[in-house]
Amino acid sequence: MSLPHPSPAAADTSPTAVLPREPGPPGPPVLTVRNATKAYSGGVKALDDVSLTIGEGDLLAIVGPSGSGKSTLLNIMGTLDLPTSGSVEIGGKDPAQLSDRRLSALRGRWLGFVFQQFHLTEGLSAAENVATGLLYAGVPRRQRRPLAVAALERVGLGHRVGHLPHQLSGGERQRVAIARALVNRPALVLADEPTGALDTANSQAVLDLLIRLNTEGTTIAVITHERDLAARLPRRVEIRDGRIVADTAAHPGGPQ
Ligand code: ADP
Repeated sequence: MSLPHPSPAAADTSPTAVLPREPGPPGPPVLTVRNATKAYSGGVKALDDVSLTIGEGDLLAIVGPSGSGKSTLLNIMGTLDLPTSGSVEIGGKDPAQLSDRRLSALRGRWLGFVFQQFHLTEGLSAAENVATGLLYAGVPRRQRRPLAVAALERVGLGHRVGHLPHQLSGGERQRVAIARALVNRPALVLADEPTGALDTANSQAVLDLLIRLNTEGTTIAVITHERDLAARLPRRVEIRDGRIVADTAAHPGGPQ
């Protein structure tokens, strides 16, 4: 199978460089959540009638305090859990209608995940860790390494391809994890508290990197409890007690 893998941005791979973002509405929907409710036994509604559309080119924060429903929404958006009622659509498909095998394929093709604690495999080099992002994409083995190296170059780590995770700083580890999420060119990257385990300088660098990747065309949703972080992103979806209480975009034509 031949996937579209444009060569990495040649110009500037510095993770701290932020290019200006062209204002404008996002493109066609990548992911739609419609009237999703998630109820647990005992009557807790972790999500209560949540609707959300993420368009191609979006860079949004889903922001709210602890216990507001962010993880529950992330799991539903990431097809790791199903809503009790309501529906989800990714790439024109409803995860509730798919077999486990097709669901894994949908996830592998459409979504990339970034976690707070990086979730790298310790015995594997940076390039090998990134290449694991291609395991379920049908990319032939011999193509995996060059694609992994190109993804590392995109996140400014072209000089670290052979390093093991313990030889990298926290910020570098998170950039490896971001390269792994990107390597298959997913339609949407879901980043769960991506700066939560980093100091201030590395948090800024990772956030700058996500902003730059978005200017290069990657659609990204960041789940965070940090309002300062959310304030730097062009769209903010605020969630409280399982409900979306605000959805504001910095660009004209986007959701208000
Ligand atoms: P956040 O990620 O914003 O901290 P969560 O989505 O983890 O919020 O939780 C939202 C609400 O749902 C909380 O009140 C939490 O206690 C509850 N909750 C989450 N998971 C479960 C579960 N498995 N069983 C019962 N209640 C849950």
